[in-house]
Amino acid sequence: MISVEEALERILAHVRVMYVEEKPILDALYQVAAEDIASGMDIPALDNTAMDGYAVRAADTAGASETTPVGLRVIGELAAGYVFDGEVRAGEAVRIMTGAPMPRGSDAVVPFEETDEPSGRGFGSFAKSRDTVGVLKAANAGANVRYAAEDVRRGQEIIPRGSVLHPARIGVLASLGKATVRVHRRPVVAILSTGDEVVPPGEPLSPGQLYDSNTYSVAAMVRASGGVPRRLGIARDTVEALTAKLREGLDADMLVTSAGVSRGDYDVVKDVLANEGEIDFWTVRMRPGKPLAFGAFTSGGRRVPHIGLPGNPVSSMVSFELFGRPAIYKMLGRDDWQRPRLRAIADEAIPNGDGRRVFARAIVSMRDGRHHAALTGPQGSGILTSMAQANALAVVPEDVPLVRAGDDVEVMLLD
Ligand code: AMP
Ligand code: MG
Repeated sequence: MISVEEALERILAHVRVMYVEEKPILDALYQVAAEDIASGMDIPALDNTAMDGYAVRAADTAGASETTPVGLRVIGELAAGYVFDGEVRAGEAVRIMTGAPMPRGSDAVVPFEETDEPSGRGFGSFAKSRDTVGVLKAANAGANVRYAAEDVRRGQEIIPRGSVLHPARIGVLASLGKATVRVHRRPVVAILSTGDEVVPPGEPLSPGQLYDSNTYSVAAMVRASGGVPRRLGIARDTVEALTAKLREGLDADMLVTSAGVSRGDYDVVKDVLANEGEIDFWTVRMRPGKPLAFGAFTSGGRRVPHIGLPGNPVSSMVSFELFGRPAIYKMLGRDDWQRPRLRAIADEAIPNGDGRRVFARAIVSMRDGRHHAALTGPQGSGILTSMAQANALAVVPEDVPLVRAGDDVEVMLLD
């Protein structure tokens, strides 16, 4: 038996970072920047006002107060998006709206609240009806001014290669005026279910059959990890059926099969891959998910990495979480596949009878300032609802035969 770490290491050694594509920034959400991205401009581009109010020369407002207002002559008004073409001279002010560039000569903005103009009056009509404003509070030079380049300098590196383009970075790209971005392509993951007993949802079920949940849960995990799932359907447990279906996945970047990797008579995945590929059968020292196949399907000059997941629905999801998701992250150019981990108090015992690493489905919650982990009921590897309730996996190391209720246990948080 190999360890979880060794299995992951071997899998990651066989997948490569995807090639680069250029695409519209919004379509690149959660993809990874394939180049260092620098700004071609200053942001803000010009000094501008952070408040609605009056652009003034700060020196003019010295000594201003409620009882000794300073009167300034209003020489114009300015909305965001326009540039004032005059100059503010001594004793003058320009009525100005948030974001508008500072008029030449001005060096501070007095907000409406600090003048004798009550705020909230309609822009235009009120101001035009008067040609002076009373300043009720002295302003320091620079007050309420946002300076050019205070956010970003021209030439500054903003998004280093390898960054995940999360929503704020998509916004930053737009603020730099970039409509497209170069990223590592999303890997296409072909997913095939095997088994004579497996039936697609939506069809009637005969005795002895069950619905295919694995290709759906795995396809959902592929998509949630940033890959593009391609479901190939269900192959019957014959070498011919399986070979034909797998060939449909040859143009994918990775191939994932469900079931057929244990030691049963009809577990034909290994036979097919022995003919058309390379395969390693592993038993991984973990529970659930001990049997795992890994290798490559090769046909017609193509070589596609292949992960053969165990058929039991929980085993299949936990194995994909531990091995498939990191592989997709690597292909995307990400190395942050490690889930957040924390220590919690086990609310009940978690046995580990045979020295494997146990990943128990758990609900982690906060009580009295501490994290607690409760199991989601029976932990059989066929009980998919135990996975559906879990927000975490409690991890029991190989050398710990029993976590008692009240003991500390490590948990890895799921989505
Ligand atoms: P196997 O690895 O083929 O021996 O399958 C192990 C268990 O997983 C059996 O109980 C199967 O019925 C079940 N199983 C196999 N494929 C699927 C699937 N696509 N969805 C849900 N359960 C499955
Ligand atoms: Mg089977």
